[in-house]
Amino acid sequence: MHITGKHINYYHICHRKLWLFHNGISFQHTHANVADGTLLHQTAYPQRAARFREVQIAGIKIDFYDPQDRVIHEIKRSDKLEHASVAQLHYYLYVLERHGIEGPTGVLEYPKSRQTHAVTLTDVERAAIPEWESAIELIVTKPECPPVINKPLCRQCSYYEFCYVGE
Ligand code: SF4
Repeated sequence: MHITGKHINYYHICHRKLWLFHNGISFQHTHANVADGTLLHQTAYPQRAARFREVQIAGIKIDFYDPQDRVIHEIKRSDKLEHASVAQLHYYLYVLERHGIEGPTGVLEYPKSRQTHAVTLTDVERAAIPEWESAIELIVTKPECPPVINKPLCRQCSYYEFCYVGE
């Protein structure tokens, strides 16, 4: 199976969310945070289109790649779940490396707060990522959806009503 950036991101947030996403159950278009994030992506840096390339390779899609400096720019709405965003960016760097691009680096960008966070790939992630891939494949191919996690982050999740309806 092709593992996407969202698979990696959701794997680090909630295995139920990962399973729902992979199995085509989606509420992405109606959730306010997602709509806000999409708008942010389209408007944060309107001048970028000429400088950056969209890259689609091995199931991943990188919206803003600087081929000259080999830098991935990943735009996020907030840094609340930054560990998952960092993991997603590590995965993009790993896939680029796996396809022969030497020494790519990444930058997480938060336009609302004007913050940036540089991300590089180390041997720690190179060793961990095949394990993430195996674990993701195992989770998403299970016949049953993993249980809810009952964490504060659930209130910001697009699956919140689906998960907690009736409670
Ligand atoms: S609402 Fe919570 S339990 Fe449900 S998918 Fe989202 S993060 Fe997971």
